[in-house]
Order: sequence, then structure tokens, then C-alpha cells
Amino acid sequence: MDKNSNSESDLSVVDTEPAFILQARANERPQDPLVSCLLPAFNEEGNILPMLQTLHKLFDEQGLRHELIVIDDGSRDATVEKVLSEINQLPVTLLQLSRNFGKEIALSAGIDQANGDVAVLIDCDFQHPPDLIPSFLAQWRRGYDMVFAIRSDRHDESITKRAVTHVFYTLLNFGERNKIPENTQDFRVLDRCMLDALKAMPERNRFMKGLYNWIGFTRLGIKVRTDPRLHGSSSFNFFSLLKLGATGLTAFSNVPLRLWTVVGGSVSVASIAYALYIVIDTLLFGNDQSGWPTLVVAIAFLGGIQLMSIGILGEYIGRIFTEVKQRPAYFISRITKSTEQLKQEAKK
Ligand code: UDP
Ligand code: MG
Repeated sequence: MDKNSNSESDLSVVDTEPAFILQARANERPQDPLVSCLLPAFNEEGNILPMLQTLHKLFDEQGLRHELIVIDDGSRDATVEKVLSEINQLPVTLLQLSRNFGKEIALSAGIDQANGDVAVLIDCDFQHPPDLIPSFLAQWRRGYDMVFAIRSDRHDESITKRAVTHVFYTLLNFGERNKIPENTQDFRVLDRCMLDALKAMPERNRFMKGLYNWIGFTRLGIKVRTDPRLHGSSSFNFFSLLKLGATGLTAFSNVPLRLWTVVGGSVSVASIAYALYIVIDTLLFGNDQSGWPTLVVAIAFLGGIQLMSIGILGEYIGRIFTEVKQRPAYFISRITKSTEQLKQEAKK
């Protein structure tokens, strides 16, 4: 695909909604919607102001009422200072989390604060092209409650990362009717009904792509380009992605648990077959069985399988442990609103 194009023919990648449902949803869209734009930011001092200015200009050009909610996820650089320096020139609400909680929680904090009829979730490093927002919102007006971006290609990622992601989604979607599409991004538009549904879900182990998928409503996936970062570097390394993958799997799939029942069953059947072979070989053919190498291999093999299955059980128990503690998912240390935001809220 041409890197700079996003023609109509690229649209509707995941589109299975009946027309009459879409029409009903479209009829409910407000004439003059308030758009909440949610920007999770962790060490984005180089990107945050250009991003806020680009978005403000874009929404103004479209004649859209908007609020820009920056969720500072415990940044250690000048992100907060940069936002505060321009706060009265832009319709900004700055949420400062008490520490770095990770992007999934930062997005949840933004969703909890959003006042809009519709929300736009976008990274602040310009990797999600802001110029595509109008086409996303046009699809929302057509009746889709969630419009989400699908990466058109992953050539900028290593083969290992692509392979691990593929295995992750295959496991996650195994036997599921409601499959989570591969290569989706957090760049998306969510209707108020979806925001309310997400707010109603109290879990602490939040894998947002799974949650969006689980709640349902009407949806459309659009293939989009991914641009390079404007400034700085990604805060996700291979291990943080593995950790997120483990959260996603344990929160949405029982396949890793069931897998060990199958492995255990297969090993038992194989060992019974092997035992029969030994009996037959000794009784009928009189062959001597030199046992100990087989024994060592069998013990090591079974020991490995048992430890792995205990490890997987432990993963699930660890998640249950964090859920039963019922701690709040995050703490906000400060909320700062621009004068324009405060005026808008006073009018309501
Ligand atoms: N981010 C965040 N908290 C984190 C890590 C990242 O809020 O702990 C934000 C980050 O500022 C950016 C978005 O999440 O707006 C995506 O992060 P990044 O670009 O590092 O990830 P990638 O694009 O490589 O997946
Ligand atoms: Mg990025």
C-alpha cells in the first residue's frame, strides 16, 4: 500500500455488522458531539506539545467540540512542564498518575475521566497518524461504536517479535467465537456506550485489546499506516511485551491451563504404550531391558512438564491474588484543567 494513502478501498477490514443495526446506531449520534481525545504519555517531552497543537487545529478545522486529556503516566522528563506551559492555550485536562502504571492503566484512567460523546485514543508520538481521525469519526457517525486501526504492515518489527505475536494471538483466539483480530492498535474511536462498558469492568489485570473485544457493540477495523516516532524511543521492550502477553492470555484464555491436561494425557498414553512394549519385548523375545537411561529421561521429562504446569497455574493464581485484593487500578496525584475546560464544565 502507498504509505501516504488511506483510500476508501482500505477500509472495512473487519466489518460484519448488519446494515439495519448500523442505521439504528447512526440515528442516535448527536448533532454536535463532544470529542474526548485521550493521550497516554510517558516521557514524551519532545512530542506532547506538537501533538496537542496538531489535534487542536484538526478538531477546530472539523468544527468539533473537543477536550484533550493527557494522562501523564509518571513521566521522569519535562512532559508535565511542557503541557502546563501551554495549558491555557489549549482545551487540555492533565491527569498526573502517582507513578508509572503502564499504558493499559493510563488509558483506563483517561476513559474514567472522559466527558465526551465519543473518545479518540491515540499515542502522542505521532506513530498513529492524526490526519486519519476524521475518517475514523466518519465511520463512527455511520453507526460503528468502535473504529480501530489495524497495522497495514509490520516490516519495522523483528521477525522474532512478529512470530511471538502470532503465537500469542493463535493461543488467545484458540476455540474462541469472538476472536481478537491480530495486528490491532490502540489507535481507536470509542462511542460513549463503549466507554461506559469499559468503566463498568473492574478488573486490575487490564489487557485493553481484549476488553474492547469482549464488550461487543458494532465495530469496524481499518488498515492504517504506522509512522515513525517523532521524538524519543519506544518504552516497550521485548520483556514488557511478553509481560503484557501473559496478562492478555491469563485474563482472556484458559487454553494454557487446558493444554496441560492434553499434554498429561498424551504422556500417560505414551508411557502405557511403552510399558506394553517392554513387557512384550521381554516375555516374547527375551531381550534384556537396560533400564536406567530410559528412567532418567522419563523422570527429567515428567519433572519438566510438572514444573511448567505448576508455573502456569501460578500465573493464574497470581492474577487471582491481585484481583481479590481489590486495590484501585491507579492513583491520580493531580488534575489540572485549562481555563477553557473549566468554563465548558461550568456551563453544563
Ligand atoms: N506509554 C504510557 N505508559 C508507559 C509506556 C508508554 O503511557 O508505561 C505511552 C507512550 O507515551 C505513548 C504510547 O503509550 O504515547 C505508546 O508507547 P510507545 O510508543 O513507547 O510504544 P510502541 O509505539 O512502541 O508500542
Ligand atoms: Mg509508539
